Amino acid sequence: MPKRFRGFPSPVYVTRPLLPSLDKVQAELQEIWGSKWLTNNGLQHNKLEGKLTEFLQVPFLSLFNNGTTALLTACQGLGLTGEVITTPFTFAATPHVLSWQKLRPVFCDIDSETLNINPAMIEALITPETSAIMPVHVFGMPCDVKTIQAIADYYNLKVIYDAAHAFGVRIDGVGIGNFGDASMFSFHATKLFHTVEGGALTCPKESLKVQLDLLKNFGIQSEDEVLFPGINGKMNEIQAAVGLLVLELLAEAWAKRSGLIQAYRECLNDMEGITYCKPAENVEYNHQYFVIRINEQRFGCSRDHVYQQLKEYNVFARKYFYPLCSNYSCYSALPSASPDRLPVAGQVADEVLSLPLHGELAREDIVIICDIIRSQSRAKLIINA
Ligand SMILES: *Cc1c(COP(=O)(O)O)cnc(C)c1O
Repeated sequence: MPKRFRGFPSPVYVTRPLLPSLDKVQAELQEIWGSKWLTNNGLQHNKLEGKLTEFLQVPFLSLFNNGTTALLTACQGLGLTGEVITTPFTFAATPHVLSWQKLRPVFCDIDSETLNINPAMIEALITPETSAIMPVHVFGMPCDVKTIQAIADYYNLKVIYDAAHAFGVRIDGVGIGNFGDASMFSFHATKLFHTVEGGALTCPKESLKVQLDLLKNFGIQSEDEVLFPGINGKMNEIQAAVGLLVLELLAEAWAKRSGLIQAYRECLNDMEGITYCKPAENVEYNHQYFVIRINEQRFGCSRDHVYQQLKEYNVFARKYFYPLCSNYSCYSALPSASPDRLPVAGQVADEVLSLPLHGELAREDIVIICDIIRSQSRAKLIINA
């Protein structure tokens, strides 16, 4: 840290949206205005759908107005009933979608390495009511897709992945949207690839894609026929146009963030009590998040203390995902939400901290952020004493 460093002159946020130049957006808007076609499978929509199908290397993809509607539609399209096994260590949308579908979330503890649902704990939670598993590729780190599929096959369960964080991730060269019965991607502005608001479902079966496309348009088959109760889940032309422009910025953003993650790792490597998530060897990562865990005992102070101290220096880290979904008042009474059944998730939620990671940051900023963290360590104070 520079001598007498009092903090960053302007706030350092955990993320910043990728923004195409306004000139380019303007040109696209001009075209859309000229066409007078603003939504319902317009030119931009179809172009983006094609590009993303290719980019994510998936057989079928359907665009949505946001990730949450996409996930709701997947549950509806796959006919889920009763109970769905999911993780408590996720964003609110995951269990909320289940609740809105009148499904009961059953929380399963997580793996302390990947922070994803622990496949070894799934079987014990399966009952005659279970219809599906909804795992989350948290922070873009892939779930154990093989084991999860084996369990699902054995018990005849559907698998819907919440892949909101995992845009562009590949496992052994295979796009992450190829696993399970469907995967949901979020294109919210806080996600790396975004359409301001938006989302997509990917699936291996054409019949499901047809069904999802009907469901997201009120179930309307034709002028004369409405098949079933659908919803309005359509992505509009402006969202799609922004998405096409953001897609052009992605490669550079990935390279930049990858360098920043490398800088974080180098700076934090020798820090006692600090660990960070790292993708496995066979994973192509999307460099979307950099998340550390702070072991209070070994580091000498708590995650909450570090979070507060960073704020003093104008650094706004985020406690993703604290609190656990299982501790929300709307879920805490569920038998599966009991903290003693979720010991790993409970500990992880108390230790995690998402550090700033976006293209406006320089390597030097990362070094300073790490120095601030280092200055909180009790280990260092002992050395100085
Ligand atoms: C962002 C997010 C969602 C919701 O996506 P929206 O596009 O904002 O509706 C769902 N699950 C997870 C894990 C997310 O991070």
